[in-house]
Amino acid sequence: MKIRIFSIAVALISVAAIVVAISRSDIATEPIRSDQRAAQAASTKEPANGAVKTNLVVEPKIDPTIAAGQKTVVGKIPDRLEAVPGDRPESDSNEKFTGERIVRSEAEWRRILTPQQFEILRNKGTEEPFTGEYNDFKKVGTYHCAGCELKLFRSKDKYDSGTGWPSFFRVYAEQNIEKLVDNSLSEVRTEVVCSRCGSHLGHIFDDGPEPTGLRYCINSAALKFRVAN
Ligand SMILES: [Zn+2]
Repeated sequence: MKIRIFSIAVALISVAAIVVAISRSDIATEPIRSDQRAAQAASTKEPANGAVKTNLVVEPKIDPTIAAGQKTVVGKIPDRLEAVPGDRPESDSNEKFTGERIVRSEAEWRRILTPQQFEILRNKGTEEPFTGEYNDFKKVGTYHCAGCELKLFRSKDKYDSGTGWPSFFRVYAEQNIEKLVDNSLSEVRTEVVCSRCGSHLGHIFDDGPEPTGLRYCINSAALKFRVAN
């Protein structure tokens, strides 16, 4: 009888010990599991961050040709950035004057313009009639400011006025030009300047064709033609 009781007691103690052991192992493993989860979370984040960085930096492994040629790297990165889907084409910034003016020193203007362009754009000069590049010019496209690339006129609004200067009956966007009173001659004229860089373009007269009745008389040297897309 004593032996049975002793056996039962031993059995109960053993069960109790096992239960305690199991419960302790649960407690002991919990922090480890937490650590593992944290480690897993960290390990899954790192590659994601790394991937974003490599895209921005444009590592050599993305394009083997960059790794092969040292001097071509500089040229290739802008091409690649321009080609990213969703990027706005550079020409978009030249569509409409946003109010942000371009200011350059005289030295800068002299560096980027030809002497004739400087005389016309910055000193309000006028090219000789029938001498300009765009007087007798009928390609389809757009005309931009030679000083800052802002879009000013379209070929469909150009007409032959017979005056010897490129003539348009409509400006691309009213906000892209400023009209100033010009008293330099005995006849009071309306001067046209680029809204963004302040360059002199030409004059407006009211003897143009319908539908506007206006004649934008513009110096070729103040314009840069761009072929239509
Ligand atoms: Zn301009």
